[in-house]
Amino acid sequence: MRPFHYTRADNASAAIAAQQAQASIDKNEPSVFARSQYLDGGTNLMDLMRIDVMRPENVTDINGLSRTPSGNIQLGSKGLWLGAMARMAEAADHPDVKQAYPVIAQSLMLAASAQIRNMASLGGNVLQRTRCSYFRDTSYTTCNKRNPGAGCAAMDGVNRMHAILGVSDQCIATYAGDFAHALIALEAVVDIAGPNGSRTIPFAKLHKAPGDTPHIETTLQPGELITAFVVPPAPFAKRSLYLKVRDRESYEFALASAAVALDMDGDTVREARIALGGVSALPWRARTAEEAIKGQTLTDGVLQAAANTAYAESKPRGDNKFKVELGRQTLMRALREAAAMEI
Ligand SMILES: Cc1cc2nc3c(=O)[nH]c(=O)nc-3n(C[C@H](O)[C@H](O)[C@H](O)COP(=O)(O)OP(=O)(O)OC[C@H]3O[C@@H](n4cnc5c(N)ncnc54)[C@H](O)[C@@H]3O)c2cc1C
Ligand code: SF4
Repeated sequence: MRPFHYTRADNASAAIAAQQAQASIDKNEPSVFARSQYLDGGTNLMDLMRIDVMRPENVTDINGLSRTPSGNIQLGSKGLWLGAMARMAEAADHPDVKQAYPVIAQSLMLAASAQIRNMASLGGNVLQRTRCSYFRDTSYTTCNKRNPGAGCAAMDGVNRMHAILGVSDQCIATYAGDFAHALIALEAVVDIAGPNGSRTIPFAKLHKAPGDTPHIETTLQPGELITAFVVPPAPFAKRSLYLKVRDRESYEFALASAAVALDMDGDTVREARIALGGVSALPWRARTAEEAIKGQTLTDGVLQAAANTAYAESKPRGDNKFKVELGRQTLMRALREAAAMEI
């Protein structure tokens, strides 16, 4: 591993100041490759530093912020507050989260391993990098995400795990996380603190589609720190679930997943929220599928129409063609199971 400068911060202002003090912040530098990085659980950052994919010169340890409100999980009249420095395991096991927002608890519980969930933070989870093997192997120079303009080895390479939604001609890497799909489905917002003050954005505006600049993955500016996620109260939050299909039943990333939330009036869907994971280049809300089931009873025909529209714009390539049908079936099963939930 390359040498780097390490500091610790106990609050958000100190963390932001440490990053500013340590690095000349270049506005054009995408934050994911910035020379200064925050370190939370380190389960993704240290991994990528060890394999030389990420090479920060300055690392600011923000674990101390877990003793501030950024480490809290609280359910109140404005919804669910999830501090960004809370651990994945804390949120997955939290009784209020399990009861009022099951899709959130399940998306975290089905991610990674118990050890990683104990270590990793919610903020770090949403910012984790793709598992594309060409991205992670520096012996391949042809990766537009790592070397902008170099090409994409996955296009005609081994791409069974790669994305079919939200992809571009420059990159087909899958967004690897699970929790983000629950957040985008439930219309969460993100609290951000940075050198220029604080701001709140919809979670749906945090990640960027690869387009022509796959190396720029988020809308965070250099030095910005995620402090919390806030999930509003909603009639569909309780009847929600996360279904994850993968090659093995634990410790594995999704091949296809669905985060679904339903508000039902008897057998009729009043309102629905749907997000799709394992198949998309970024957290992916499936609005056309939501519209397809709104006001409907979930018959086989209605479910099939929703699944078809959710995947209508998919662009499979080579080995990942199977994801279209797998994704459809995953969504239909998730909707059936959500409708049958006793709440
Ligand atoms: C074998 C394995 C299997 C896994 N399986 C899954 C899975 O099935 N599903 C899943 O979702 N994940 C999975 N993961 C990923 C794991 O969940 C992430 O590594 C973890 O959530 C990252 O959190 P962290 O706190 O360790 O982040 P870190 O490694 O500390 O940080 C990751 C990145 O986010 C930045 N960062 C961290 N916190 C903040 C913040 N508050 N504000 C701004 N920037 C910040 C860091 O600078 C860094 O760039 C797996 C990981 C491994 C190793
Ligand atoms: S899919 Fe994206 S991350 Fe993977 S090799 Fe291509 S450009 Fe790189």
